[in-house]
Amino acid sequence: MNEYDSNRILDLVKTIGYVSTKNILDTDCYVLNTCHIREKATDKVYHDIGRIRKKFKDKKKPILLVAGCVAQAESNEILKRNSYIDGVIGPQSYHLIPKMIKEIEDKKNKINNTEFDVIEKFDKLNLLRNTNSNISSFLTIQEGCDKFCHFCVVPYTRGPEHSRSFDEILSEAKQLIDNGSKEIILLGQNVNAYKYKKYRLSDLINKLNSHKGLERIRYTTSHPKDMTDDLIGTYQTCKKLMPLLHLPVQSGSSKILKLMNRKHSIKKYLDIIQRLRKKRPSIKFSSDFMIGYPGENESDFNETVSLMKSIGFINSYSFVYSPRPGTPASNLEIIDPEISKKRLKTFQEISDSIKKDYRKKLLNKKLEVLFENKMHKQSKYFGKDEYGDSVIVESKIDLTGKKLKVKINNFNQNTLFGEAVFNNNREVAA
Ligand code: SF4
Repeated sequence: MNEYDSNRILDLVKTIGYVSTKNILDTDCYVLNTCHIREKATDKVYHDIGRIRKKFKDKKKPILLVAGCVAQAESNEILKRNSYIDGVIGPQSYHLIPKMIKEIEDKKNKINNTEFDVIEKFDKLNLLRNTNSNISSFLTIQEGCDKFCHFCVVPYTRGPEHSRSFDEILSEAKQLIDNGSKEIILLGQNVNAYKYKKYRLSDLINKLNSHKGLERIRYTTSHPKDMTDDLIGTYQTCKKLMPLLHLPVQSGSSKILKLMNRKHSIKKYLDIIQRLRKKRPSIKFSSDFMIGYPGENESDFNETVSLMKSIGFINSYSFVYSPRPGTPASNLEIIDPEISKKRLKTFQEISDSIKKDYRKKLLNKKLEVLFENKMHKQSKYFGKDEYGDSVIVESKIDLTGKKLKVKINNFNQNTLFGEAVFNNNREVAA
């Protein structure tokens, strides 16, 4: 979502004459768009500011704004602690950035904009064309969260759930497709909680599925509670909807899920998986796992391992629990960090071996890959298969924007490698 927001911030600042630059030493204004989901996010912001400050030691100071969830969570503290910062802007107020820059240019005042102005933000953004022209583009349809998992800061930094209007989303999707996007990834902190009048996420997927210029649809991040029948049904009816669902589960123990206030049990989770597999037998899953949540014992952890093995997630993102200030779980007693670390290691070894086995089975198979870009200074092209895995192919022909079969001949932890195959079965000259 920060990538989407950063692109929209660029569209906003263009209206006051700013353009993006890769030349970081010749910059008039920095906007650091931050994420607060992991530990030490604030330290990273101060570290980046320190680097900028050093680079501009003998030059005119650039305007420096801190945007995103770190700004939202620690606005006053940030302004007080670092005099180099000119302003902070929460994720729901970034439409005000052009105004802030102008005010800073004129009066040099420090500004704190951390109100939850989500409706005003999208009203403002709707007036601006989305100029992103990536083959695969993000499109925010929903923001915020009402679920209040006990470990999570999102309800406090992004605010309550808000869904954008159906027509606004379709109009922005059309802009992206007109710009050349072939894949749209619908975004929301609770994307499948999307609800605008009578419309649900399934209605958006159905509508986009019939759009001629679009090849692929994905959405993230979903909550198991909102995996409704209509949404599950789109896996049968919408061929452009990709067969990978990222469905965070966090733990394999229903006891821990309850302590986390996750609002779903393992029984419910497994039932969703089963219903999805019925609608699209080729579907695969990825998930998020939190290891060592307060109260997790060996048997709870073993249930998480069993779940991992029984579903065979092809990708998983796992971390040791770390308390986020201000969340209910931050008051709980944490378990021995050595035990958590050991469990994480065990878990990651198992998930890596599942991933490796899955990738081994792909060798010599032909996968459908949508190519996104040429790699920097190389005759190699980067794309993704239907399951979102990165694929790299060497080619003298420009593959950008093409959807081709690729015969996989190698892999590593993060990437598949192969040769593009054209319809007449001739391989690309490498
Ligand atoms: S549903 Fe997701 S965003 Fe909402 S509180 Fe839980 S973890 Fe955070």
